[in-house]
Amino acid sequence: MNLNWTDIQRKRLVELDADATTLARTFDDADQRNRAFQTWVKERISVHRRHLDALRSGHRRPRLCRLETALVETLVSHGFVQMSTPVLMSKGLLAKMSITADHPLFEQVYWVERDKCLRPMLAPHLYYVMKDLLRLWQKPVRIFEVGPCFRKETEGARHAAEFTMLNLCEFGLPEDERRQRLEFFAALIMDGAGIDRYSLESETSAVYGSTLDVVSDADGLELGSGAMGPHPLDRAWRITDTWVGIGFGLERLLMTADGGTNLSRFGRSISYLDGIRLNI
Ligand code: ATP
Ligand code: MG
Repeated sequence: MNLNWTDIQRKRLVELDADATTLARTFDDADQRNRAFQTWVKERISVHRRHLDALRSGHRRPRLCRLETALVETLVSHGFVQMSTPVLMSKGLLAKMSITADHPLFEQVYWVERDKCLRPMLAPHLYYVMKDLLRLWQKPVRIFEVGPCFRKETEGARHAAEFTMLNLCEFGLPEDERRQRLEFFAALIMDGAGIDRYSLESETSAVYGSTLDVVSDADGLELGSGAMGPHPLDRAWRITDTWVGIGFGLERLLMTADGGTNLSRFGRSISYLDGIRLNI
């Protein structure tokens, strides 16, 4: 019992969403292993084909889109106004977030032109809009955006170059309510994503100094990062109000709710549809 799957078999097992127990199986000889592989794959493919049929005859929308809709509805019903800002971001706005050449995140940015990039985060555009809304609207002001963000990443299984961020923030609340508000918003999103086992942990962030992360209890995966203000970054926007905000990765929420380990199944894809690999 000391033979593992071959690399090619393992790759296929991961594509077909094998769990850790299946991936860890060992065999006496190659014959036994190859037969086990054939049987497992055959069963799995029939399950996945049924799932694709159910998608077509049922809700007809991938999970990423359904989660986005559900969370948008939840936030709107809690008084948040949805923003829809450009995917292209100017270098100057990143600099206002202190993301300049000497910052770790700077290396991860996809530049489109000399001074435009694919946004690595939503916060700069939300700050930009918020500085005016704070002038125009009575406080507290609650806004959010959900949409694609882009980062060059080196670590694969939990990171994608293109992922979907949901960033919510509330400005102009009493300072002593911030922690409680962060906890409430974290609970709102976790409930919408169907995740009941998570914790809030203090972290050091490259952008915000210290953050309050939402972490999955199952595997310690960071699901979201929360921050509070007033904060030194606010000065660049002439904002002096108290605030809280959290950014979540939707693919990470889906992966955690599903118990899976392969983030690429849950993102925008031409290889997967609703988490199902299409080459089956
Ligand atoms: P990590 O430490 O896991 O790389 P981060 O702290 O760099 O994440 P944040 O800048 O806090 O990420 O972004 C907010 C959220 O966006 C993260 O908590 C995570 O859920 C999600 N996220 C960030 N980068 C990626 C990525 N490359 N792929 C998928 N989701 C991501
Ligand atoms: Mg973080």
